[in-house]
Amino acid sequence: MPLKMNAAVVEQFGKPLELREWDVPSPRVGQILVKTEACGVCHTDLHAAHGDWPVKPTLPFIPGHEAIGLVAAVGSGVTIVKEGDRVGVPWLYSACGHCEYCLTGWETVCAQAQFGGYTANGGFAEYVIADPNYVAHVPAGLTATEAAPLICAGITTYKGIKQTEARPGEWIAISGAGGLGHLAIQYAKAMGLLVCAIDIDDGKLAHATRLGADFVINAKTGDPAAAVKKATSGGAHGVLITAPSLIAFKQGVGMTRKRGTCVLVGLPPGEFPVPLFDVVANCITIRGSFVGTRQDMAEALAFAVGGKVKADIELQPLSSINQIFDRLEHGDVPSRVVLDFAPAKTKNQRSEVDQHFAKAGAGSARDL
Ligand code: NAD
Ligand code: ZN
Ligand code: ZN
Repeated sequence: MPLKMNAAVVEQFGKPLELREWDVPSPRVGQILVKTEACGVCHTDLHAAHGDWPVKPTLPFIPGHEAIGLVAAVGSGVTIVKEGDRVGVPWLYSACGHCEYCLTGWETVCAQAQFGGYTANGGFAEYVIADPNYVAHVPAGLTATEAAPLICAGITTYKGIKQTEARPGEWIAISGAGGLGHLAIQYAKAMGLLVCAIDIDDGKLAHATRLGADFVINAKTGDPAAAVKKATSGGAHGVLITAPSLIAFKQGVGMTRKRGTCVLVGLPPGEFPVPLFDVVANCITIRGSFVGTRQDMAEALAFAVGGKVKADIELQPLSSINQIFDRLEHGDVPSRVVLDFAPAKTKNQRSEVDQHFAKAGAGSARDL
C-alpha cells in the first residue's frame, strides 16, 4: 500500500484545484524525494491551471515551482545532495545537459527541459520528486518561506534585469509590481539602477516606493510610456515587463529609450502589436527571458543572504489554494503568497511517512 500525502491537483483546466490524497512518489535512480516546507504561489501556476499556453500540461497534475524543502530520501546514484539538505525545486526541473544550449549556459531553453509544476508534478504537495542536478541549494541564513519566492520570482527578475543590459546609474522601468515586480525593484536597486515602477494598483505602487522605486506611475491614469519618457529624459535604458496583461507590453516597448532593451517576462496568453517603425528607427531590442540558469539561481539567492533583497510574503495553508488563485487573478495579492507546510506536521499521514524514513534510512522511499 503506497503511503499518501495531501496535494492540490489540477484535474480540469479552468476548474478549482482538488484538495486530495496522492501517493507519495518514490525517487528512482538519480532522483530525490523532497519534503515540502514551503511553496510560493506564482501567477504562472494560475496560467498552468487555466491551460493558458499553447503547450499544456498533462492532466491531472500538481502545480507549484517555488517549493523549498528538505531532502527526505535519495535514489541510487545521487551524490550531489544528501538527506536533510535544504533545496528548492524550481521551474527548470531538469534539462538534457549536453545539447548546444545546455553546453553554453542556456539550459533554460533546452528542448528536453522539464518544468516543475507543469510537465513534472510540483510543490503544492507534501512531497515532491526532484532532479538533484537542477535543484536550488538554499544557503544557510535563509528560511524555507523566505527562499521560496526567490526560486522563481527572484531568479526570473534578476536574470531579466541582466538581460536589459542597463548599467548602474541608468534607468530601468519595471511594469507590474506584484510577485515578480516587488523583487525586481529590489534587485534593480541593489544593482545600482534608477527604478521606475508601473502598476495599475495604487497600493502596489505605494509598496514599490517603500521598496526604493525612484518614481512610480499608475498605468490606468494617462499614458505610462509618455510619463516614463518625460521622467527619464527620453525613456528607460531597460524595461522589464512582468505584468500579466497584453496592454503592458505595447506600453513597455513605448517607454524604451533609443538603443534600449525591452525584456518580456510576463506570459499572458496572446500576442501584442509592435510599432515596427519606432522599434526599427530607434534601434530598440525586444527580448524574451525565461527564468534563469543554475548559476543565475546561486547569484539571485546570494543577494538575499546579503540582505539586499527580501520577499514580502503572506503565509497560507495548502487548503487555501483556491482562494489564493482567486485573489491572484483579481490582483488582490500584495506581493507573494507562500504555502506553509509546517502546520501539516501534526497530521497522521505525514508523520507516518516521516516515521517510514526515520526507520528505513537512506534510499527508503524506493520501498514505499
Ligand atoms: P502577480 O499577479 O503577482 O503580479 C502581477 C502584477 O502586474 C500585479 O501587481 C498587477 O497589478 C500588475 N498589472 C496587471 N496589469 C497591469 C498593467 N496593465 N500594467 C502594469 N501592471 C499591471 O504575478 P507574478 O507572479 O508577478 O507573474 C507575472 C507574470 O510573469 C505572469 O504572467 C507569469 O506567468 C509570468 N512569469 C514569467 C516567468 C518567466 O520566466 N518569463 C517566470 C515567472 C512568472
Ligand atoms: Zn513562477
Ligand atoms: Zn539540453
